[in-house]
Amino acid sequence: MTRFAFPAFAAFMLVLPVLPVPDFWITQSIYIGLYAIVALGLVLLTGVAGLISFGQAAFVGVGAYSAAYLSTKLGLPPLATLAVGVALAVLAALVLGAITLRMSGHYLPLATIAWGLALNYAMANMESLGKYDGILGIPTMELLGVDLGTGRGLHPLVWAIALLAALASMRLLDSRAGRAIRSLRSGATMAEAMGISTLRYKLVVFVLAAVLAAVSGWLFAYFQRSVSPSPFSIVKGIEYLFMAVLGGIGHVFGAFVGSGLVRVVEDELQVLLPRLIGTSGSFEVIVFGIVLVAVLKYAPEGLWAFVQRRLPQRGRARDWEGAAPLAARDKPTRGEPLLAVERVRKTFGGLVAVNDVSFRIHAGDIVGLIGPNGAGKSTTFNLITGVHTISGGSVHFRGQSITGLPSREIARLGVSRTFQHVKLVPEMTVLENVALGGYLRTRAGSLRAMLRLERQEERQLMAEAERQLRRIGMEAHMHELAGNLALGPQRLVEIARALATDPALLLLDEPAAGLRLKEKQALGDVLRQLRSEGMSILLVEHDMDFVMGLTDRIVVMEFGTKLMEGTPAEVQASPAVRAAYLGTDH
Ligand code: ADP
Ligand code: MG
Repeated sequence: MTRFAFPAFAAFMLVLPVLPVPDFWITQSIYIGLYAIVALGLVLLTGVAGLISFGQAAFVGVGAYSAAYLSTKLGLPPLATLAVGVALAVLAALVLGAITLRMSGHYLPLATIAWGLALNYAMANMESLGKYDGILGIPTMELLGVDLGTGRGLHPLVWAIALLAALASMRLLDSRAGRAIRSLRSGATMAEAMGISTLRYKLVVFVLAAVLAAVSGWLFAYFQRSVSPSPFSIVKGIEYLFMAVLGGIGHVFGAFVGSGLVRVVEDELQVLLPRLIGTSGSFEVIVFGIVLVAVLKYAPEGLWAFVQRRLPQRGRARDWEGAAPLAARDKPTRGEPLLAVERVRKTFGGLVAVNDVSFRIHAGDIVGLIGPNGAGKSTTFNLITGVHTISGGSVHFRGQSITGLPSREIARLGVSRTFQHVKLVPEMTVLENVALGGYLRTRAGSLRAMLRLERQEERQLMAEAERQLRRIGMEAHMHELAGNLALGPQRLVEIARALATDPALLLLDEPAAGLRLKEKQALGDVLRQLRSEGMSILLVEHDMDFVMGLTDRIVVMEFGTKLMEGTPAEVQASPAVRAAYLGTDH
């Protein structure tokens, strides 16, 4: 985005009603604004967080019916009906979200269809809501004693809300909470390992999208001055999703492009198609269906992506020079018992992946965990960090049992890790990825981000992320997208992210795998540097030579069991270890 595009667009939309634009286009523009508010929620929910919802129209209905019922039956003013509508939407979203957001894969979209249908059915069958006839005679919107009417007067309100929602969304996405939301699509394991409660952020975006939908519905009720069930049906829910997908599901402005296009084209088609076909009917739905399939196949990022590619890319302004450092945890003193792994066990069905393995790490130790492929090294990591539930045994960290704790709690205590299969958020920059590591050291929530009240903390966090990138020699790449890096640099970024958590124990799972010789040497330097700073590290490695020069002690695993433990020299001299290694293809 170039700097002036958004203000210019906002100014144009806000003054549109005083320009000599025909009423028809003012009406169209109001519809576009109303749709964009809903589509914006879907961009956040589906595009950014990866949670597909077909049921947004039902939340629009909650806002619209609240306004209709409360204004006609109880004579409540718009701000009161808004408050009730939003509160109901939040409540419904919390309940539905708590039930359905734990579902994975295709179950969630199916569930959204189910409650979308159910809510719509309720609207159509409640006596007090007028059943299929709906509610008529809604007064016009009156705010602060001014009657906005349903045309040129209402337009600025609709667009002010749409534009503010867009601004708040952009700010949110560019914040601590936003990065947590953007990490959701990459799977829960990494986010939880950084201390992020993925369920909580799924709920946050789900509620946010529901609120946006309800606000749109509220405006809609005063604009139409009547409500009936059909604009809040599943068909409309699919149309909202279509707008977001068409415009660009990953971009805030995609919501505007999509809703604008759909509204204008829909209107044309509604006139044109029946004339072509010869009978009346909603044939535009067929066209939209075909277009949707084409978009998903040929331009899955939507139309806005084409615009964005042509805009000059602005890296994040480097505004964190001189920011105060983030608070650091009390580090264990050298030699203090740090990690005690006691007869841990993990079975997958009949397979014993980790078979009663025990070892200890003291503060300042660099311990290697080696063994052939499939020996159970990564599974041991996953048991220590709470990724897998433990089948037996115990893990203590700094004298406290962490057996069975969720991985974000273990992270909070100061255990951080990298992954054998690199888990970065590819569409975030290197700097933003590393900043995820600082999640637990910062506090700002979604609301503060939308209001930009967290910039101080954000600067501290970015300064920390840059510091860690410099530590591993990657600061020159901080504005690149993580997904564009080669595997070696990606592994280094993971180490920087783990360091940004300010760990007391660092677990590295095959950091040298797939690295070129030069990168390997650079990694060795980084690890030696960390050792000299007193960092405690558990290092899983396949490459024996790499660990030999680096570690104080080595634990060797084979077929899930601990084969031996000793100094590098002892391990190297062991015939059993040699046999284990020669027995495999590595
Ligand atoms: P290593 O990291 O030493 O190469 P792993 O810990 O990844 O080995 O795997 C140990 C064994 O456990 C392997 O036989 C692997 O197939 C099995 N395993 C690992 N994770 C799972 C899982 N989630 N489900 C089933 N089996 C698994
Ligand atoms: Mg492994």
